[in-house]
Amino acid sequence: MNDPVQSTQILVIDDERDIREGCERILSRMECKVFIAANGMEGLEIINREPISIVLCDIKMPGIDGIEVLSRIRESKKEILVIMITGFATVETAIEAMKRGAYDFVSKPFTPDQLRIVVKRAIEKLRLIQETEALRIERERNLADLGMEQSRIRTIIETLPNGVLVTNMTGQVVLLNPVAIKYLGIDVSRKTGEQIGTYLQDKGLCDYIMAISQGAYRITDDIPSYELVLPEERYVLVQGRPVPGAGNECLGAVVNLADITAMKVFDRLKSEFVAKVSHELRSPLSTIHEQLAMVIQENAIGYSEDSQYMLGRAKEKTQGLIALIGDLLDLSRIEAGNVGQNPVPVQVDDIVERVVEFLKVQAQRKEQQLVYKPSAVLVAPILADAMAIESIFGNIITNAIKYTPDKGKIIVTVEALARCVSISVEDTGFGMEKKHLPRIFEKFYRVKDENTRFITGTGLGLPIVKSLVEALNGTISVESELGKGTIFTVTVPYP
Ligand code: ADP
Repeated sequence: MNDPVQSTQILVIDDERDIREGCERILSRMECKVFIAANGMEGLEIINREPISIVLCDIKMPGIDGIEVLSRIRESKKEILVIMITGFATVETAIEAMKRGAYDFVSKPFTPDQLRIVVKRAIEKLRLIQETEALRIERERNLADLGMEQSRIRTIIETLPNGVLVTNMTGQVVLLNPVAIKYLGIDVSRKTGEQIGTYLQDKGLCDYIMAISQGAYRITDDIPSYELVLPEERYVLVQGRPVPGAGNECLGAVVNLADITAMKVFDRLKSEFVAKVSHELRSPLSTIHEQLAMVIQENAIGYSEDSQYMLGRAKEKTQGLIALIGDLLDLSRIEAGNVGQNPVPVQVDDIVERVVEFLKVQAQRKEQQLVYKPSAVLVAPILADAMAIESIFGNIITNAIKYTPDKGKIIVTVEALARCVSISVEDTGFGMEKKHLPRIFEKFYRVKDENTRFITGTGLGLPIVKSLVEALNGTISVESELGKGTIFTVTVPYP
């Protein structure tokens, strides 16, 4: 900003030459640019021509007097500060001038200092006016920027290819973009501001968003996603995150909706392909396996030790391949939804106990204790396919036997809770490092370390278990400590 003292243009209008020239001298030394006029008309002409900021104007002048000059300035150049020069006799008139909008007055005769004080005050006033104006412009520009930023963000959200929905901590919808409206089947005329439940038909999705909005998860948590099935076999993956406030409290939820239909179709085609290939391989492999077994049995004595070893390895490997094919076929059947389609009420504790009894032979071979601890209270029946339950616990307990050294202990505990039954399988085995835990339910994932190197497996057991548990609307979790042991816990809800 210019320094007003340096650049102020001042006009002195006075019919007395001494006063005019005296003022000009004093003010020029204050580094102002000074104009002088001997009467009102001349002064008004200069005002029209030059960018005058301050006018010093004598009240009593021949022709148009100071009050008239003041009125004309107030009409057309409101920004000019007018200081009236008055004689003793005209103090009342000066007061009248102030009422009409003069900024200040100075009485004749005045000393140079008096003039300087009055003019400096006016210059200071001008500076303040300039600063206020600059601040106003700055504020308006900030507001305009903010408005533009907001509309830009809104445009981006509106045009995102994914659906976006935002709720506050009470579950009120505060933002919905057009894609979310489409995926969720919301009436386009609906406004935001109401509870999430009034927009959604899917109760599970509503509970999911509500839980995140109300702070059930922290931002760092591994938050589950929700799969929404739309008409015409379209699938939408819903992923919500809490919105943290300044103190890390939950302010609401941001929910992203992505169409995963193409991925689902691809996944299905892949499973179908794997199932077909596995099916084609199963019969010839079983034949090879049986024939190998026969050859080994019939000619055992005639073969050299090397040949016997090689034949034995070949038989083991074909057995491994047959197990892999069996698991692949199981998995594709489960993923295609062909397992547990006709659930009936079953006594899950009885099935688990039978599995434990069946696997005791395997455990005894490794001199392990396999203990079954029944529930203290009666377990209510659950709706399931008994084969699925057998498969779940068959896999988990077999793993516990496999991944626990000889003479270890495995405890299978059934506990009836208020809304579900919980079954845990705890072993004193090799355990796993934390980094493996989220991945062991992925297909073909196996922990490879010194302890597990020689243990055969397909890496498909736990993915099968997980799919079966999810088909029962249950949950599976795992805790493990390297060198100490592992606990798998499955919960299945009552109907
Ligand atoms: P696998 O056929 O290899 O046993 P799974 O899917 O059943 O395949 O298990 C995946 C991996 O999880 C295993 O390879 C093993 O490393 C680990 N695992 C499973 N259960 C246990 C357990 N009780 N103790 C230690 N590691 C386990």
